[in-house]
This record gives sequence, C-alpha cells and structure tokens, in this order.
Amino acid sequence: MKFLLVFDFDCTVIDENSDTWIVKCAPEEKLPNKLRNSYQNGHWTEYMSRVFRYLGDSGVREDEMKRTMTTIPFTTGMRDLLDFIGKNKDFFDCIIISDSNTVFIDWILKAANFHEVLDEVFTNPATFSGAGYLTVQNFHTHHCAKCPKNLCKRKVLEEFVDKKLQQGVKYTKIIYVGDGGNDLCPVTSLKKDDIAMPRQGYTLQKMISQMSEDLDPVQSSVLVWSSGIEILSHLKLLIKE
Ligand SMILES: [Mg+2]
Ligand SMILES: [Zn+2]
Repeated sequence: MKFLLVFDFDCTVIDENSDTWIVKCAPEEKLPNKLRNSYQNGHWTEYMSRVFRYLGDSGVREDEMKRTMTTIPFTTGMRDLLDFIGKNKDFFDCIIISDSNTVFIDWILKAANFHEVLDEVFTNPATFSGAGYLTVQNFHTHHCAKCPKNLCKRKVLEEFVDKKLQQGVKYTKIIYVGDGGNDLCPVTSLKKDDIAMPRQGYTLQKMISQMSEDLDPVQSSVLVWSSGIEILSHLKLLIKE
C-alpha cells in the first residue's frame, strides 16, 4: 500500500506566493508600475524573468534574496504535516508541482530541513547567472489549452505516475493538495479512489464547488482543509485502514 501525495507550493506549503514575496527585496519593496503592469495572461515565467532582471539591475544579490525568501511563513500545520510524512515514507511518496522555481523552493525546503521528505520537486528551472542575476525558464512545453504556457501540472502528474508504474509502483490513492486555479487541471485527472484537497476559501475550492453546482463534479472525493493538521489527521486514518 503506497499513497502519492502531491503538493502545490505557493499558498499551500507556504502561506504566501514566493514570486510576490521576492518583491520585498526590491527598492522600497515595490516594482515600478510599468514592470508590474507588464504581465500577460499565461506568461508568468516571462514576467518573473523581467522581475529578476530588475532586481539584478537594482543590485539585489543571491544572499539577500535567500535571506528574504527563507522568512516566508509556512501555512498553519504544514510543518507538522511534512514531519509526519517524513516519518512515514513507507506509506507515502511525496512530490511538489509548482509554478515557482527551483531556487526558491530549494532554499525554503532546505532551511526548514524538509528537502528529504520530498521525492521530487517539479517546477520552473532557475539559476544564477555569472553576473549574479536570477534567471528562470519554462518547466516544459505542453498542448493543454487550460494551463499557462510554461506548466501543465496534469501532464507532470501523469508522467510521474507512468514513470513509477514502469518501476513497478502502483499507488493505492493519489492525494492532491493545492489552492490555485492551475491546480484544477491535475485535479480533474484524478479518479474516484483519489482525493482532491483544496484549501478552504481559495480559487481551487471555489472552482471545484462551481463544477458540482454545474452538475459536472470531479470524479475524486474532495476534502477541504484550512490547516495542515486536518490533512495530517486524514493521512493517519488512511494508513490505519
Ligand atoms: Mg498555490
Ligand atoms: Zn493542463
């Protein structure tokens, strides 16, 4: 019996959006209007590339970014939840699929000592250039019309599950924990034995409720959460069964 836990990162594991938090490093902790207004729907990675270039031009360097990013608060109960998962790796594989980037997520997970809880982290690859600028790239290309250009979380999840199948691992259940609009695509690929766990009051939960109202509900069961402790309690029940 093996469960796959899939976590979104921003506003799920951490209680903030990492791409917004980095703006604390900018002069006066804000972006120029022109830059802020330059975001085009579905082109988030390009937008963040411009933000990172601006930070680089403003003289913000790696150590300052790291110091700022590792002060982001975890969502209530998430530290306990990740501790619990780390102690029960016989039952749980655990991955993150996020539209943040590898540098931010590495910093935050390592600072909190959670990097070993995760089997894999799928997110936009980022690196510091020789000149000290943070650069970020699209995670992959895909043909999903519903998702931003750089990342379809459904495709990532399906590829991961296929890869594990080839290695002889078949999951009893997939449990997907998230909050955002880009978590809906993978959630609609879940089957009836799986569990979607949308965060109470956030976009994903509203979208899932709307689908039920429209008589087109998701196939999986749905468990709304506000704290990681509620998720933890449910995982305890699962491994007792
Ligand atoms: Mg999120
Ligand atoms: Zn998609």
